[in-house]
Amino acid sequence: MNNRLYGNLIFELSQEGRRGYSLPKNRYGQYEIPAAMRRNNDAELPECDEMTVTRHYTNLSANNFGVDNGFYPLGSCTMKYNPKINEEMAALPQFQNLHPLQPQETVKGAEAVCTLLCRSLCELTGLHAFTLKPFAGAHGELTGLMVIKKYHESRGDMQRTKVIVPDSAHGTNPASAAVCGLDIVEVKSTPDGLVSLEDLENLVSQERDNIAAMMMTNPNTLGLFEKQIPGIEKLIHDCGGLMYYDGANLNPMLGAARPGDMGFDVMHINLHKTFSTPHGGGGPGAGPVGVRKGLESFFPEVSPYHGNFAVAIRALAYILSLGRENIKMVGPLATLNANYIKECLKDVYELPIDTVCKHEFVFDGLKDKSTGVTTMDVAKRLLDYGYHAPTIYFPLLFHESLMIEPTENESKETIDGFIAVMRQIAEEAKTDPELVKSAPHNTPIGRVDDVLAAKHPVTTYKQLKNEQ
Ligand SMILES: *Cc1c(COP(=O)(O)O)cnc(C)c1O
Repeated sequence: MNNRLYGNLIFELSQEGRRGYSLPKNRYGQYEIPAAMRRNNDAELPECDEMTVTRHYTNLSANNFGVDNGFYPLGSCTMKYNPKINEEMAALPQFQNLHPLQPQETVKGAEAVCTLLCRSLCELTGLHAFTLKPFAGAHGELTGLMVIKKYHESRGDMQRTKVIVPDSAHGTNPASAAVCGLDIVEVKSTPDGLVSLEDLENLVSQERDNIAAMMMTNPNTLGLFEKQIPGIEKLIHDCGGLMYYDGANLNPMLGAARPGDMGFDVMHINLHKTFSTPHGGGGPGAGPVGVRKGLESFFPEVSPYHGNFAVAIRALAYILSLGRENIKMVGPLATLNANYIKECLKDVYELPIDTVCKHEFVFDGLKDKSTGVTTMDVAKRLLDYGYHAPTIYFPLLFHESLMIEPTENESKETIDGFIAVMRQIAEEAKTDPELVKSAPHNTPIGRVDDVLAAKHPVTTYKQLKNEQ
């Protein structure tokens, strides 16, 4: 695409007096907006014809990368394909034109969507009741912790203010606990990446009567199944605390195991990760919260109406189009795909924890550290080959983290293509390291200086016209 011809900003294409659309003349002169309420100067808006606007935005959209363009192995984010039928369902005018204040008898279909989705989530998780109100995973965590806090308060257990969070947890876990007014106690991981039962036993013996809950992500942020859950669950319940399950990425569990059966009391699910819905750029999302029987009366009002209803429609469409039998394949396939990539690449990329993973795993950069090629360089070089980069420099447990999640949706051919490119980059790192270090070469914008961008952010755009 020729950026010069089409311009970087719509403002650069503006020509004074150019129109895309003409409104009919005002035939109701006496109804002019009162002078006092009118602006003094014209708004500074771009003036363009329709064709220019269409080309500008169409070309801009072609610079975007999404899961419809190519493989998107962003670990911990589950960027899975969103089948088109989900979009069709969410776009049905009967859903799209709903108003939350419509009379109850006219929204029976929407109510059925919510009820059926909640019932499906109960079935898939082994919990008793769900609320669809939370707008995101982090919002779900906050909601779930509010339930836990109210539960303890209802029993007069006011001193239970400590939440145990593993050091490998997603950053939103401690943040949600803090927002909820609870104190965070960190529990360490063992060298094999799981919660240290020894460290936990120490913590519990010190804090017995103050523990409100333990938050666990399973599979954890390293993509590993927390094998110690039965012991942990007993330890926490014995001292009066509740178990919270971060089910943001529940896909590896679908068809394999249910949090409710493992003894968890409260959980959230990211519908936008586990049950499709594109969520690039931070939205839209939904983080329904489920609880075991007896806790549903503690659900707080965290949003008006029923949360992000369109995300709920997509999730239900995903669940129903897979059906009771096929949904059991989601977990095994997500797990198989991740392990296949891991095994095919672990001779050239450093695998710090060499074990069977669930839906994702973490490399610690290239195996050959002598080339000076970093995880950042590998990620940038992947863009040249038409792949979205994996999650990099997270989790913080390793220096060169490269976290890969293929999801259950990808074909073997796509995965083999990715493996071949990852091996090619490892080869280039040896034979032509400069090529990798200066990547990307084929994208509209090359390597940006992130230090400069962080230290001297330029948040306004100087128009070319004014510079000339
Ligand atoms: C994504 C994620 C979250 C946060 O979800 P948001 O919808 O981004 O707020 C929480 N925990 C884990 C493990 C996650 O992967």
